[in-house]
Amino acid sequence: MKVAEIMANLEKKYGHEKEYLQAVREVLESIEDVYNQHPEFEKAKIVERLVEPDRIFTFRVTWIDDKGEVQTNLGYRVQFNSAIGPYKGGLRFHPAVTPSMLKFLGFEQTFKNALTTLPMGGGKGGSDFDPKGKSDAEIMRFCQAFMLELWRNLGPDTDVPAGDVGVGGREIGFLHGMYTKLARKYSTGVLTGKGAMWGGSILRPEATGFGALYFTQHLLHKAGKDIKGKTVAISGFGNVAWGAATKATELGAQVVAISGPDGVVTIPNGMSKEMIDYMLDLRASNQNIVAPFATKFPECTFIPGKKAWSVKCDIALPCAFQNELNGDDAKELIANGTWCCCEVSNMGCTPEAIKTFQDAKVLFAPGKAVNAGGVATSGLEMTQNCMHLGWSAAEVDAKLHFIMESIHNACVKYGTQPDGTIDYVKGANIAGFMKVAHAMLEQGII
Ligand code: GLU
Repeated sequence: MKVAEIMANLEKKYGHEKEYLQAVREVLESIEDVYNQHPEFEKAKIVERLVEPDRIFTFRVTWIDDKGEVQTNLGYRVQFNSAIGPYKGGLRFHPAVTPSMLKFLGFEQTFKNALTTLPMGGGKGGSDFDPKGKSDAEIMRFCQAFMLELWRNLGPDTDVPAGDVGVGGREIGFLHGMYTKLARKYSTGVLTGKGAMWGGSILRPEATGFGALYFTQHLLHKAGKDIKGKTVAISGFGNVAWGAATKATELGAQVVAISGPDGVVTIPNGMSKEMIDYMLDLRASNQNIVAPFATKFPECTFIPGKKAWSVKCDIALPCAFQNELNGDDAKELIANGTWCCCEVSNMGCTPEAIKTFQDAKVLFAPGKAVNAGGVATSGLEMTQNCMHLGWSAAEVDAKLHFIMESIHNACVKYGTQPDGTIDYVKGANIAGFMKVAHAMLEQGII
């Protein structure tokens, strides 16, 4: 395989799909050497097949807003790869959603899911629907209209969506209700992230953030460091940021910043339980602004237009959106003394930011390893659904711990460099790729 040739071809076909091309390039560049040691991969054209999704559904979603006006959005489901299990991955509701964004997310998901040790293929979906300012009734009607189109393509052994940006427990509830009505059967395992009383796994809401901190602990431990007493800057204030803030605080770190599209809130003495709980109210308000946090807690300061990366911290945890931390942000963090960045959002750092961190010997780990605890716990939810039972929080937490440790071990196995340092980007990409590539090889040319 020659990465330059494959990328040139993809650029010709999909030149406008920037996020997709960025995600593919990152993976191909890190697996190139290993891939070229396997002529059987080349013969079966594994990479050429793997970079294209199996299929993409695109559909119109029409719904009626509270004023009685008809609204139309676009809905998508990218079924990326099912070599190791049914398609699995979240739904994103955000005005910037495009096929490029969902292709990048589905591609990433394929490797991430492979890393979890569980049998899940990769998928992603969503809509350009903007939840900002919408009432609960509008959100419900949109979710129902979305499911009306998608339901025939889903199933516990076919494709199992979950949440992502703009889709949380409330939306999964509405989607599940409509699915059940349309399918005329109760399939507990057709969506994950369900309510704990009707088939959801305990700890699923916390899992992405908790898993990220377990991974961070392993990474720090390996580097001879400890999270206790360290300062942490978190971007975002949604579900993932909330889980990360909860666990970081529990482990004795000080969360000194959270942020939103409107700016950053600095938190001088770290977060209290009341502050962490308030993050959930902020998200549920559908306003997508973080400023009210500083009004509610006067010891905090809101700085409009600034990112979390302007705040002095030991550890940076991007928890919001792709490319939210760029090369200049990385330089600013490093100048302020940051020595670790664990990407919790999917592709949260630009390639320039990753290079800046790696050149400066900042400990860096990529999203597909760090945030895999979310989808892993979705996988555990699927298992509980199949078995028609529910595990305790302690059981789920122990399994999540084990999975995050396994992912860390896989990164170390494939990412250890001749000088003894660990390239977590390479490690995660190669480990995820190997599993999917071997599964594809054994299943023939399909
Ligand atoms: N959206 C999450 C992710 O990026 C979770 C997906 C899932 O639970 O299926 O991995």
